[in-house]
Amino acid sequence: MIQDTGSASMMSDQQLIGLDQAHLLKIEDNSELLGQKFQCHHEVLIPLAKLIRQSEKDGIPLRVVSSYRSFEQQLAIWNRKYYQDILLNLRDGSQVSSQELAGKERVDAILHYSAIPGTSRHHWGTDFDLFDAGAIDQGYQVKLTEQEFSEQGPCANLHQWLEEMMQDYGFFKPYANDLGGVACEPWHLSYQPIAQPALKEFPQQLLRATLEESDLGGKEFVLPRLESLLQKYVYRINQD
Ligand SMILES: [Zn+2]
Repeated sequence: MIQDTGSASMMSDQQLIGLDQAHLLKIEDNSELLGQKFQCHHEVLIPLAKLIRQSEKDGIPLRVVSSYRSFEQQLAIWNRKYYQDILLNLRDGSQVSSQELAGKERVDAILHYSAIPGTSRHHWGTDFDLFDAGAIDQGYQVKLTEQEFSEQGPCANLHQWLEEMMQDYGFFKPYANDLGGVACEPWHLSYQPIAQPALKEFPQQLLRATLEESDLGGKEFVLPRLESLLQKYVYRINQD
């Protein structure tokens, strides 16, 4: 059964940092179960399907915006923000052009919303970004902002529903509150029975070696303080 995970659900070090996909199940092979196509950890399919089914019964049809992401995909997200002239959201709510910031400040601004490649919980296939498909007008592009999940936002009902229901299905919100690391992300849901041991097993040495070999933008501002960045942006989460 799903809850009795044992060693079967343990991921390899490569899988934990997004370099290997053997732990994944392609949900597109099971789309009759969910009606959506994305990839997730093979042990998360059933609890996620149950959560989505219940949400549809309750009139708040969950849709997954983002699920599994590989190291390479996260690297592309990171480097786009580091090298291209795009707006980054700062902690105080203001925005600034990426290229106006010095390297270290740029890295810190990116980290507010985007993980260092290899450290995204999305690598595990246990974590999902969600919205309420029933509350969104056709043609509306979901942005995943705090405003959308506020009391006035279109995902207010989803926000409330998740608070009441997610734990019954094994899910929690690791970024429910801004703890000084990753920004508040009320749309990000995580499957605790697999994700919690994954975090405990996180392979710091393999991560460092992989980043050293990668073409990560701002590498010289990341590697010297990697351990403290991991404490702040990977280990510092809401526990339930
Ligand atoms: Zn997410």
